[in-house]
Amino acid sequence: MSAVPAAGPHPAHPPHPAHPAMRAGSATDAVDRTRRTVADLHAELVRNGLVAWTSGNVSARVPGTDLLVIKPSGVAYADLTAETMVVCDLTGARVSGELSPSSDTASHAYIYRHMPQVGGVVHTHSRYATAWAARGEPIPCVLTAMADEFGGEIPVGPFAPIGGEEIGHAVVATLSGHRSPAVLLRSHGVFTVGATARDAVKAAVMCEDAACTVHLASIGGQVTPLPPDQIDALYRRYQNEYGQR
Ligand SMILES: [Zn+2]
Repeated sequence: MSAVPAAGPHPAHPPHPAHPAMRAGSATDAVDRTRRTVADLHAELVRNGLVAWTSGNVSARVPGTDLLVIKPSGVAYADLTAETMVVCDLTGARVSGELSPSSDTASHAYIYRHMPQVGGVVHTHSRYATAWAARGEPIPCVLTAMADEFGGEIPVGPFAPIGGEEIGHAVVATLSGHRSPAVLLRSHGVFTVGATARDAVKAAVMCEDAACTVHLASIGGQVTPLPPDQIDALYRRYQNEYGQR
């Protein structure tokens, strides 16, 4: 495996030898299932063209515990397995796993601590969405698919330094007051949240799709936001009636 040795702003914490949440058998099963889910979802980032080299990460809250599972730092996507995933507590400290966690772990942990409804977090530098972030411009809600998924524009949060929990603070602060599960971080990229990690991955895919289409439309002329009442009706229908019930 081509794991890069622990380096950068998030030095390895020695694994906690006996975190209370790791002792119970059912919690161990939940951790194992979450490791598998998070490893598999990283392949979706590659499949959907959302990441370059080792950038980007997925995490999930371990159901029924105060733990999260996240990608190791600087490991190639092709080398990610359930075993290489890192288990951390909700302060971002590693409790299980051989490798150092993603340098964004403290921010993922901040989001889980402050958004109890969130079960999954995704971060990418996906191309079109990050182009909007580079301009510091929210993506206006000009398409039915955006109203369905985001319930309005995709907002932009402030620039925040990498390595601590400042990015998490910016994500939580920007998403409060928006229905959007996606936020652009100025001069950086995209964070998405969901009830599950799969929902957060879907939001990352849909965010990039919307960013691309609205960009292409903007080349040909002005785009017009949908009226708020239409956005509300579309969002309500999609969130409550669409799909198999
Ligand atoms: Zn990043």
